[in-house]
Amino acid sequence: MAEYKGILVCGELADGKLASITTELLGCGRKLADDLKEDLSCLLASDAVGGASKEAIAFGADKVYAVEHPALKEYQADSYMQAAEKLVKEISPRTILMGQTSMGRDLAPRLAFRLGTSLTTDCLDLSIDPATKLLTQTRPVYGGNAQAMFTSEFMPQMATVRTKAMSPLERDDSRKGEVIPTKIDIDTSKVRTKILETVKEEAVGIKLEDAPVIVCGGRGIGSPEPFQTTLKELADLLHGAVGASRPPADNGWVSEALHIGLTGKIVAPDIYIAIAVSGASQHTAGCTGSKHIIAINKDPEANIFREAELGVVGKYEEVVPALTNKLKELLAG
Ligand SMILES: Cc1cc2nc3c(=O)[nH]c(=O)nc-3n(C[C@H](O)[C@H](O)[C@H](O)COP(=O)(O)OP(=O)(O)OC[C@H]3O[C@@H](n4cnc5c(N)ncnc54)[C@H](O)[C@@H]3O)c2cc1C
Repeated sequence: MAEYKGILVCGELADGKLASITTELLGCGRKLADDLKEDLSCLLASDAVGGASKEAIAFGADKVYAVEHPALKEYQADSYMQAAEKLVKEISPRTILMGQTSMGRDLAPRLAFRLGTSLTTDCLDLSIDPATKLLTQTRPVYGGNAQAMFTSEFMPQMATVRTKAMSPLERDDSRKGEVIPTKIDIDTSKVRTKILETVKEEAVGIKLEDAPVIVCGGRGIGSPEPFQTTLKELADLLHGAVGASRPPADNGWVSEALHIGLTGKIVAPDIYIAIAVSGASQHTAGCTGSKHIIAINKDPEANIFREAELGVVGKYEEVVPALTNKLKELLAG
């Protein structure tokens, strides 16, 4: 039987650099590897991995397996699967971590199936049980109303981790590690999909996931226009971004990319201002990682007030402009 050892992060690149989820996974992987006194490795697959390998070391990896192949230029399940499966079979990691991202959601179950192991998705916390050395995986259940802890004796242990659930280490370019250029043959005849075109959504202003402040509007906003005016003015003033609950996205009032919650984006800004949002569990599942939640709602019984640290009961049409004006006054003074 193979000896399973070490932690492997399946990394993601964004515009040639490490994606933020990968730095978060390396931060969490570092802690797990130190607890086990084993190595933290990172798989980076692309047509050209470049400086991202060094970046992964600066964020905590001991070893980086840089797999380069033209078929790995963009994420495609059939090609990435081959790279991941072959590397895992070669190095036998104890634990494999991926992001709960478009790539991780697609690749992790496929890889788990191929390896005949189990997978816990959307984890918020991971730790090592010192007695068994098994991974304890904490994830939300019942639409975010409770959290459950899982473990599995299948090896390797696999988990996907929610974005912003973990913190990256401080980047340290003096950290030492090994970059291992790894040749893996990809059978392109097994790649069943073809990327014809990549269309980048034009992001105006700060990306929702990176915004320190999010001004989120719900169905109670009533129409598309206030998202562009009232909410945007407040968000701009606070150097933040506008988000939405699901109904405004479903109604086409805002882009689907702004939808926050269980089936949308998971965010964890410093300040989350929920305006005319009732606070359904499927929505709060996407924002409870925020440092401070402020709610504005005309219904004093709205569930969002249970999550919020500060709340204003009133019509947003009156409260938000008053808040914006006061902030302008304070910022000017
Ligand atoms: C499987 C599943 C997945 C889901 N995933 C998501 C998800 O990812 N994200 C998500 O958001 N939802 C999701 N939902 C939907 C979720 O259950 C709720 O229906 C949704 O979050 C409600 O959105 P809301 O709070 O904007 O609207 P509502 O629940 O209709 O609330 C509107 C609020 O606005 C207030 N209001 C109205 N007018 C004003 C005003 N003038 N001033 C101030 N306040 C006002 C009302 O008091 C009310 O509290 C999901 C549901 C299911 C079943």
